[in-house]
Amino acid sequence: MPESEPQPIRKSPLLPGAEALFDQLADAVYLIDPDTSNIVWGNRKAWESLGLTREDVLDHSVLSLQKDVHGLPQWSEIARAIEASDCFRFIGRHRHQHGHEVAVEVNTTHFTLDGRAYFLSVARDITNRVAQESDAHNREKQLWFALNEASDGLWDWEVATGTLFFSPQLKRMLGYGPDEMEPVLDTWSRNVHPEDVPHVMLVLQEHMQGKRSRYEAEYRIRNRNGHYLWVHDRGRVCEYTADGKPARVVGMVQDISNRKQLELLLQEHASNDPLTGLANRREGSTYLQAQIELCHRLNLPLGLAFIDIDHFKAVNDIYGHLIGDQVLQQVANVVKHAVRASDLACRWGGEEFIVISPNSTLENMRLVAEKVRQAVQAALADNTPPVTISLGVAAASGLAINQTSLMAEADSALYWAKHNGRNRVETAPAARG
Ligand code: GH3
Ligand code: MG
Ligand code: MG
Repeated sequence: MPESEPQPIRKSPLLPGAEALFDQLADAVYLIDPDTSNIVWGNRKAWESLGLTREDVLDHSVLSLQKDVHGLPQWSEIARAIEASDCFRFIGRHRHQHGHEVAVEVNTTHFTLDGRAYFLSVARDITNRVAQESDAHNREKQLWFALNEASDGLWDWEVATGTLFFSPQLKRMLGYGPDEMEPVLDTWSRNVHPEDVPHVMLVLQEHMQGKRSRYEAEYRIRNRNGHYLWVHDRGRVCEYTADGKPARVVGMVQDISNRKQLELLLQEHASNDPLTGLANRREGSTYLQAQIELCHRLNLPLGLAFIDIDHFKAVNDIYGHLIGDQVLQQVANVVKHAVRASDLACRWGGEEFIVISPNSTLENMRLVAEKVRQAVQAALADNTPPVTISLGVAAASGLAINQTSLMAEADSALYWAKHNGRNRVETAPAARG
């Protein structure tokens, strides 16, 4: 209808009985003329909630009630949207006569009665809800602050957009300034240590799929200088989409580099001999047992060499324990470099070492041992003090391998090496047949 034509003033189409019923409603009801935006009728709540009389309300256009709608052109747009939907909903602010605003949620439907179009708006006062939401928002901010203080950094991942927010503290932990680190998932994932990526991604994926109650992982992440920090990272999906998919994941990170370094050191001490750096007896024993089980399964041979430094007591007696210790370190170093990469050299105790050689027959083992003996001779025989070693070798194959008898045979072979003049490799007489 062209705007220039005068509009007939509408009267409420409601019967007085219906009006009385609407007056009992807790929500404000406005019957509106779609063309002019004028209020044709309002229930008790409609005028009371705005500090008006019933007559005042009828003089108003809905535009004058709304703080957020200005002028007829904007009204026409809204009117079109109302006509196009079954129920048009918006959150707005009504002006109260006393000057303050009332937060409202308005649901508007359109209908035709006696050939005339009407809008029916039901406005609900949501002041309390808005206050609660703002309270919750403030609480979230406080919680965020507290978590940030308790950790070395926070992250907040919006799954749909791939946006990953890093807290300034997290950036600082990795050596970045507040304006660095592009807030995308890739910024994080490309800096996780390649060896840790599969595990971290699996744990994250399992949490996202609901198979784990939370995401938690310890991994290495590269800092700005290219060094890796160890971090403990944990997070949880805190928002879901309407169809139940993770929408937002929030987490906190702790720098655990110091603890991890200590752990690695303890691990090393538990398996390595501190004087020579070789595997210690416990580690050697575990490795030997694992190799024996493998040889049983695959029917493979396994070789063992027992090494003992010749006249080592004299070294201590003549040169002192400190020099004795240095000799142990020198021998260990030569042995370690003389064996094959697949062999394990370990300090068995005192001035005794063993070499475990997977897949070695007695003949192979002899060659390995001879190479070690020559290497020590070449490096240390003309040393002050001069050092040589004696070696006893043994080997067995498949199910015939037994840790006790293999060690006993190598020990017996060593005895013969000493007996036959030292600085030599021997097998046990039984093995020689
Ligand atoms: P043989 O040729 O018959 O093996 O003679 P040996 O003198 O080497 O004989 P023995 O096995 O009796 O002596 C080993 C010596 O090694 C005795 C011990 O004091 C010394 N020893 C054991 N552990 C260490 C160590 O950690 N440091 C030093 N300096 N000496 C050690
Ligand atoms: Mg000895
Ligand atoms: Mg000795």
